[in-house]
Amino acid sequence: MKNKIKTIAFDADDTLWSNEPYFQEAEKQFCRLLEDYLPQHSVSQELFKTEMKNLHLYGYGVKGFVLCMIETASRISNATIPVKLIDEIVSIGHELLQKPIELLSGVSETLDKLKGNYRLIVATKGDLLDQERKLKNSGLEGYFHHIEIMSDKKVSDYQKLLKHLDCKPENFLMLGNSIKSDMLPVLELGGYAAHIPYHVTWAHEQHEPVLKHENFMELKSIADILSYL
Ligand SMILES: [Mg+2]
Repeated sequence: MKNKIKTIAFDADDTLWSNEPYFQEAEKQFCRLLEDYLPQHSVSQELFKTEMKNLHLYGYGVKGFVLCMIETASRISNATIPVKLIDEIVSIGHELLQKPIELLSGVSETLDKLKGNYRLIVATKGDLLDQERKLKNSGLEGYFHHIEIMSDKKVSDYQKLLKHLDCKPENFLMLGNSIKSDMLPVLELGGYAAHIPYHVTWAHEQHEPVLKHENFMELKSIADILSYL
């Protein structure tokens, strides 16, 4: 891989900063709100069902998550949920959209070392405005040549991104916490992929089997990438 990599793309949520813990906290609040209708773990299962059903319509991010909570609440209450509870669900979403940005360890130091030697970009899913807000508040904006907020991270989405960047797959390295979204499609295209595990992963992004591929690297933390370049 040495000398081949020209562009390095970073996933954002749970790679540059924490995200999933905020969603899990929000989900717990939601499950507690509805425990008069169903046990909390069943509310959580119902919410996940709604999210999977709507993913192709809403994509990823807080706004879709809020709509899914409202839809789930309506379904499990047989459309009897008090408006006050809907208000509280909306507030859960508003809180999520105002969470502080907590950079993960080693992020700034690693970007500092890479800057100038590579074209650095962010490749993330999520709501456009929210991801822009997080990037701005992260203080990292200045490191990146390009920010791509993607509706999905399938092979075809990365193909489009590479085309836009005028970058060949063999000159492209992606770093991220999701094997499914950040690693597999990039490897399929012939790029390089480095996995930085995060301690919690959304059920939809979970991937069990250990990945073996000549272009794949398993890192302990983001700074470990420096020893491969
Ligand atoms: Mg991520």
